[in-house]
Amino acid sequence: MEKKNTWETYSEEQLQEVEVFAYEYRRFLDEGKTERECVDVIVNMAEEAGYRELQEVMKEGKSLKKGDKVYAVCMNKSVVLFRIGSRPMVEGMNILGAHIDSPRLDVKQNPLYEEGGFAYLDTHYYGGVKKYQWVALPLSLHGVIVRKDGSTLELNIGEDEDDPVFFISDLLIHLASEQLEKKASKVIEGEALDLIIGNRPIILDKKDKDGSEPESEKEQAKEAVKKGILELLKRKYNVEEEDFISAELEIVPAGKAREAGLDKSMILAYGQDDRVCAFSSLKAMLEVEDGERTACCLLVDKEEIGSVGATGMQSRFFENMVAEVMNLTGEYSELNVRRALAASCMLSSDVSSAFDPAFASSFDKKNVAYLGGGMVFNKFTGSRGKSGSNDANAEYLAHIRDIFEKENINFQTAELGRVDLGGGGTIAYILALYGMNVIDSGVAVLNMHAPWEATSKADVFEAKRGYVAFLKGADM
Ligand code: MN
Ligand code: MN
Repeated sequence: MEKKNTWETYSEEQLQEVEVFAYEYRRFLDEGKTERECVDVIVNMAEEAGYRELQEVMKEGKSLKKGDKVYAVCMNKSVVLFRIGSRPMVEGMNILGAHIDSPRLDVKQNPLYEEGGFAYLDTHYYGGVKKYQWVALPLSLHGVIVRKDGSTLELNIGEDEDDPVFFISDLLIHLASEQLEKKASKVIEGEALDLIIGNRPIILDKKDKDGSEPESEKEQAKEAVKKGILELLKRKYNVEEEDFISAELEIVPAGKAREAGLDKSMILAYGQDDRVCAFSSLKAMLEVEDGERTACCLLVDKEEIGSVGATGMQSRFFENMVAEVMNLTGEYSELNVRRALAASCMLSSDVSSAFDPAFASSFDKKNVAYLGGGMVFNKFTGSRGKSGSNDANAEYLAHIRDIFEKENINFQTAELGRVDLGGGGTIAYILALYGMNVIDSGVAVLNMHAPWEATSKADVFEAKRGYVAFLKGADM
């Protein structure tokens, strides 16, 4: 089959749009390095585009009609947007879904300790990571600390040029002969991923300590570096050591998303899995202003650890919000909610692995996505005989091909890698439980789950074009 490169399909005008879109995308990545930060950015973008919070509409006792736009947030970590169509919702929605959590290191609940003159934060990694990739690079700390009184401290340290950064140490090459004999999975183990956050002991006046007079000798307290950090946390943030119990602190690579390549054709950034699909889906959702079928954009948390938890796709949040919206359009019944979901079409978007010539044998060259090859469709992402796949219906794929060809969207079909080499899950199977048409789609990524992942600017823009075509055209 002939495959086009997306760059060759663009007009001069579109090439300019690609650059604008890529710029906005990089800003989105910079502002949203955690799921909470993403939700903040997304809500701001939605409100600017005229979306109102569903809870507010409910409180006012208003109803929803054609053209109305609402959003709902779940625990500050996942969000869903609806734009009401001209046809009843019971006839089905067109849904774009993606996830906004990304692999990272999370701070443990009892994290702070001192060893060898360093203060550390103990971590537990989140999602699938090659642990050896997370050492000896600048890291930033993002998240919230909720004090016992319910007040919340939002932290974002390490992104501003004047901020300090953090790091995890690695053994010097000169002494690494034993380390380098180990398997890559053991070179850096999970408990070794502890973050260095300080090295300066707190110095106490001796008289402050025991009241002795008159000369004021100075001395180090026990665990003086840790004490120094605790003193700083108290003074600067009004935070006690126990407050880590009710904190969600995420450690991510420090620094902004960058253009990559001498030709600036790519983007190198943290967290593109799956914020690349979240951003392009959201932009499509905000762009399409009318449509017969109700449009929906669902951006969820916890995909990287199996879509569990109240903010993951397995929670009833989405279904409940569909019920609330149908209640306000006057269509609610238990049966109508089920019918609306079953009659819906969905693009469940997530990143796909891009062909990497350096590891060519890991892929089937005919059935892999190429960077610059356009939007990707995956019927299978799983392993062991397609386990965990959406395996979307041929009829649905034919419908999507038809929509995309009419709008000249460049797309490719792919599997994650070579048969039986491995696999990965997405949220598609959860939506498939409702009996709706759903397929995995998205954008190809090189070095997926690494601290810095690469995408093609053309693919990111083409995905947005594809989502627009889907929201306008899907109907089966
Ligand atoms: Mn992932
Ligand atoms: Mn993903």
